[in-house]
Amino acid sequence: MSEADRVKETIDKLRAQINHHNYRYYVLDSPEVSDAGYDELIRKLKRLEEEYPQFVTPDSPTQRVGAAPVEAFGIIEHPLPLLSLGNAFSSDELTAWYIRVSKLIEGEQLSFVCEHKIDGLAVALTYINGQLATGATRGDGMRGEDITQNLRTVRSIPLSIPGEAPVRFEVRGEVFLPKEGFKKLNEERAAEGLPLFANPRNAAAGSVRQLDPRITAKRPLDIYIYMLGYAEGKLTPNTHWETMEYLKSLGFKINPNNRRLSAIGEVEEFYHTSVESRESLPYEADGIVVKINQLDLQQRLGNIGHEPRWAIAYKFPAVQGTTRLKEIRVSVGRTGTLNPYAVLEPVSIGGVTIKQAALHNEDDIKRKDIRTGDTVIIQRAGEVIPQVMGPVQSKRTGREKVFTMPGQCPVCGAEVVKPENEVMYYCPNASCPAQVQERLEHFVSRGGMDIRGICKRLAALLLREGLVKDAADLYDLTTEQLSRLERMGDKSARNIITSIEKSKQTPLSRVIFALGIRHVGEEMAELLAREFHSIEVLTSASRDNLIRIPAIGAEIADSIIAFFRQKENQRIIQRLRESGVKLEEELTRRGELPLANMELVITGRLKSFTRDEAEARIKALGGTPKDNVTRHTTYLVAGTDPGSKSARARTLGVTQINEEDFISLLEQK
Ligand code: NAD
Repeated sequence: MSEADRVKETIDKLRAQINHHNYRYYVLDSPEVSDAGYDELIRKLKRLEEEYPQFVTPDSPTQRVGAAPVEAFGIIEHPLPLLSLGNAFSSDELTAWYIRVSKLIEGEQLSFVCEHKIDGLAVALTYINGQLATGATRGDGMRGEDITQNLRTVRSIPLSIPGEAPVRFEVRGEVFLPKEGFKKLNEERAAEGLPLFANPRNAAAGSVRQLDPRITAKRPLDIYIYMLGYAEGKLTPNTHWETMEYLKSLGFKINPNNRRLSAIGEVEEFYHTSVESRESLPYEADGIVVKINQLDLQQRLGNIGHEPRWAIAYKFPAVQGTTRLKEIRVSVGRTGTLNPYAVLEPVSIGGVTIKQAALHNEDDIKRKDIRTGDTVIIQRAGEVIPQVMGPVQSKRTGREKVFTMPGQCPVCGAEVVKPENEVMYYCPNASCPAQVQERLEHFVSRGGMDIRGICKRLAALLLREGLVKDAADLYDLTTEQLSRLERMGDKSARNIITSIEKSKQTPLSRVIFALGIRHVGEEMAELLAREFHSIEVLTSASRDNLIRIPAIGAEIADSIIAFFRQKENQRIIQRLRESGVKLEEELTRRGELPLANMELVITGRLKSFTRDEAEARIKALGGTPKDNVTRHTTYLVAGTDPGSKSARARTLGVTQINEEDFISLLEQK
């Protein structure tokens, strides 16, 4: 094989690998390698293509942006392409960019805007006559996915612009999940036995790229707008900074951490303070974006391939490290899930000592080929539990051991089961001490009954001392019993009893969550509370009744039915009721919602919503969607081609509103 053939082979291999990772990242929102690992592959390919330009092809991943849009969403053609960004990984590379740019526009005084490069999903929002018309993903840069309905549920995206705005314009921004929301979402998914999102970027992308907007609506997504794509009908300002100020005045959310700077040295300073404050930022960022402020200079500099010359991403160092994986252990979760985790040779990554890392499930371990004894790459990202990204193959000695799930529960010894179509293994013994303890901890947790003072240690102690066998026993505890426990003062004991007493008024959704039904996380619990209003009604709900609710599939319905069918659970609920725990919907909370006590009927076609979406929005705001107009109907929402309901509403004197009014009604959140 000639040298050129060998290079060509390497290039082909790299492209195949990168294309595979692009697909996992952009289409499935589920990457297999870290961003740093991916960037390394790209750099290798770029280097080879620079050296052997005869092998550059237009379909090479170095020449393209993202991945082709998924047709199921509907396609939106971008009038102006959405580009990627060139990267600088060091101060030298930033300087090289600065020198390149300065040479191209010699004699001009440059000023910069620096912004955090938030790890989310790029979207383009088009407004026509002051109304949000479309929202799209970047896709392959030319064609994006139509995710308008999903983006409408993001509260910080204005649906209409109240003041004077260009007739038609497009803004671009990053939709993201703040760290707090990401943490909650993953806790929720863990509770439901679903695979966790690897990072906030994948979680945000997965949340926005949903075929069902109701799922998007439940995720605490946010957006920062970072540029104006184009505008028709009105002059735009001269600089990027002024453009951002202008967009702010139109009601768009602009990152308050953006800075306008006048020297490249200040850019470096901004970068270093950003690296230092990275952990405390409310969002995940993987670098800063440095932009030339003057729009005329941006124009002159133009683009090179799919990257603008006038901006660059100056990436933060990866928070990664390598260490030896000493052992893979398995813990038992609340619902009996067997959760493998890695015990590591302690390693300091980004100033934090890491001793353990998540391994998710057996499939994940197999896919990444992680073995006991391996040297592994560990990644930390903000609030997230450190993850084992994969083994360093070159450090293999041959003595590493392949992991297999134990056949018996490591805590109680029960025979382990694995339901078909699930990735998780379970300990089926509900009295398994590990499950009992986890259930108790879950019951008292913040998202549940929020009983303060009962930490992991105390929960274990209460169980060991036999004072508590299940959650209902908490309500029989006395101050005397508690104060007799080791390391417990009278005051703490009294506080805990007060907190237990207070928990009796916990809203229904949190009580449902606290019960710890498999597949019922916080979002699902809220939905169940909204639909059924009391534990009693929920207990008697049939499978059909449950499945009729769009977000509930067969698996969740079966899990709910199975939970309430168990005698032990029925006994616990009965005892909670006798202790005075409120098991009905808190009416005052419903009363506070903007559409509380309102009945809305929809007729005709709506432009911005399907019927199901509109009804879900009404319900989410406390209203009740109905099929027929009666004297109790608050509003009839009339779309195009309204049916006979319109005439009936007139006869009964029911107020009719059009789609615009309806949207305004929904917006008064
Ligand atoms: P990019 O992420 O390097 O830069 C472009 C993107 O930055 C924009 O589309 C926008 O979404 C975002 N951005 C955030 N804040 C911004 C701001 N203030 N101004 C402008 N843009 C802002 O480029 P890319 O093409 O989206 O993706 C390449 C990167 O994605 C890689 O460097 C890698 O880190 C990651 N990636 C990882 C995998 C993987 O498997 N791990 C696969 C593909 C891509």
